[in-house]
Amino acid sequence: MNPFTVRLHVYGDLDFFLPSKTPGGKVERHLNEKTSVKDVIESFGIPHPEVDLILVNGNPVDFGYTVTVDAEIELYPPRIQSSNFTDKRLQALTITEFVADGHLGKLVRDLRLLGIDVAYDAAAEDRQLVEIASRNNRALLTRDRRLLMHAAVKHGYYLRSQNPLEQTIEVLRRFDLGFILSPFSRCLRCNALLEPAEKEKVIGQLEPLTKIYYDKFRRCTGCGQVYWSGSHFTKLQKRLEQIRAKLGS
Ligand SMILES: [Zn+2]
Repeated sequence: MNPFTVRLHVYGDLDFFLPSKTPGGKVERHLNEKTSVKDVIESFGIPHPEVDLILVNGNPVDFGYTVTVDAEIELYPPRIQSSNFTDKRLQALTITEFVADGHLGKLVRDLRLLGIDVAYDAAAEDRQLVEIASRNNRALLTRDRRLLMHAAVKHGYYLRSQNPLEQTIEVLRRFDLGFILSPFSRCLRCNALLEPAEKEKVIGQLEPLTKIYYDKFRRCTGCGQVYWSGSHFTKLQKRLEQIRAKLGS
C-alpha cells in the first residue's frame, strides 16, 4: 500500500490536546497502512469522546471510517457549530449520569452537592470504570486520556483544569446541566437520594447538641447518613454560592 498523508484541522478547544506549538490547530501525519479515523484522531492525542463531528474531505463520517488515501480531516467538539451536518453529530450534548475516576473526589463531592448522579469509588480500577460507563451509559469523567480512548467508552470528558471548582464548571457547561441542578438532594458519601426524616426516627444517630438545636433532617436512602442544617451545611452553602457565581461569570 502506498504511504499517504492525513492533515488534521481542529476547531474549538480541541487544540488543547495538540502539542502546544501547533499553529492554527493544524497537524499532519504520514501513514503506511489503512487506519480507522478513531485511531488517527487518537494518535494525535485527542480522545474520541471529545469529538462531536468528523469531516473527511468535507464529508461527515463516524469513528469506524477507514482512511486509506490522502485526507483532510476536520474535527469539531460539542457545542461548536459547523453550519451543516447537525444530524451527523457523534456525542450526546446532555448527559445526566456520570462515573468519575478515582482521583476526582472533590469534583464528585461538588457534583453530588448539586444533585448530580455520579458513581465513584476511589479504589476503582480502569477496567471497572470503563465497564460502568459502557454498561450504564454513564459519561466518564477523567484526566487520563488513555482511559478515555478505550473503545467501549462512548461518552466522556477530559477535565482541562486540575482545580475542582473549575472542573465542576467545565462539567456543568459541557453537559448542559444548569437546568437540572437540585442542591442537597443527594448523599455526598454514596450518591443515593435523600429523603425527609422525622426527628424521632434519626434521634439515635444525633449528637446531644444536634438533638437540642435541630428539628429538620434528611436521611440517605442508601447508606442511612443523616443530614441537617448544621455547621457542615453552612460550608456547603458557601461552596454552592462559589459554584453559582463562577457559573454565571
Ligand atoms: Zn448515602
